[in-house]
Amino acid sequence: MAKPKVAFYWCASCGGCEEAIIDLHEDILKVAELVNIVFWPCAMDFKTEDVKNMQDNEITVCFINGAIRTGEQEEMAILLRKKSQLIVSFGACSQLGGIPGLANFWDRESIFASSYGGKCPSVDNPDGVVPQEVSEVPEGELYLPRFYDTVKTTDQVIDVDYYLPGCSPAPYLTMQAITTILSGDLPTKGSVLAPNKALCEVCSRNDSKPEKLSIDKINRVSLVEIDPEKCFLAQGIICMGPVTRSGCNGENDGRCIAANMPCRGCYGPPSEVHDVGAKMIAALASVVGLEGEEDMSEADVQKLLDQIVDPAGLFYRFSLAKSHFRRKIMTDSKEEK
Ligand code: SF4
Ligand code: SF4
Repeated sequence: MAKPKVAFYWCASCGGCEEAIIDLHEDILKVAELVNIVFWPCAMDFKTEDVKNMQDNEITVCFINGAIRTGEQEEMAILLRKKSQLIVSFGACSQLGGIPGLANFWDRESIFASSYGGKCPSVDNPDGVVPQEVSEVPEGELYLPRFYDTVKTTDQVIDVDYYLPGCSPAPYLTMQAITTILSGDLPTKGSVLAPNKALCEVCSRNDSKPEKLSIDKINRVSLVEIDPEKCFLAQGIICMGPVTRSGCNGENDGRCIAANMPCRGCYGPPSEVHDVGAKMIAALASVVGLEGEEDMSEADVQKLLDQIVDPAGLFYRFSLAKSHFRRKIMTDSKEEK
């Protein structure tokens, strides 16, 4: 019997999700025994034409990592959707926009101005040349894909069947997803293939998580000595555990918590949370208070909030493109895509 066909594709991401496939270690040999990898441009020399020449639905399952930043990525996502029975949105950037999604605080013009316009000290570009979609050279025309104003999640461009969360997805979850899909016993469409409970629920520091967050100072990890036993929130350090899905380290402490660092939220929200940042702000607002006092004064709350450096980047670090806000509205943008 012919083996199922599997494809992997890389859009706007750091490449860590490609590493996550390599992190399967010897299990990758088991995958290779079970399937034919028919498209994986990062690892092997496949061409777009190879995909175009396939029948519709010929690929059993395609894993797409990275957000959609350019016209080429959008075209490839649409093409792979057409050629695949199942699409798995792989990793935080594909699922939620991830770190590339933070670019939605700007638009193409301001990003180009910052990267090529002389504001960046390491750039020497006296003529202010910016990337062009078409360039004339003696040999003919050269093309670059369109760079969109707005970073999109995979499911904002194509229909997605499953999501594998994380920056990057844990190898055991990837292997579990592959074997589950190949077994034919498919989970409900739209499922996130990781446990549906918050990280706090599996955290060994949960017992020290305060009912009432009695702090008058927000601490930054680089500026304080961190108690390795105590909940980060009890130490005045923002930890996204209450609004983040568990599974990054099995049923154990999150990978970051185990390394004595607060969770930054890369596994995205459990299913009941729709907007990570809003939920975390609400969670903090509902517990914050001073010892022995019913409520903090407005001035005290403001004083506390003022200590959060880059609140948008903190609360929406991985999820801005998928949030209710999605992007900052730039009134002078020429294009809104
Ligand atoms: S807030 Fe962070 S440190 Fe505290 S219990 Fe939750 S995951 Fe653990
Ligand atoms: S602890 Fe949080 S930020 Fe760290 S890997 Fe797990 S989900 Fe991601």
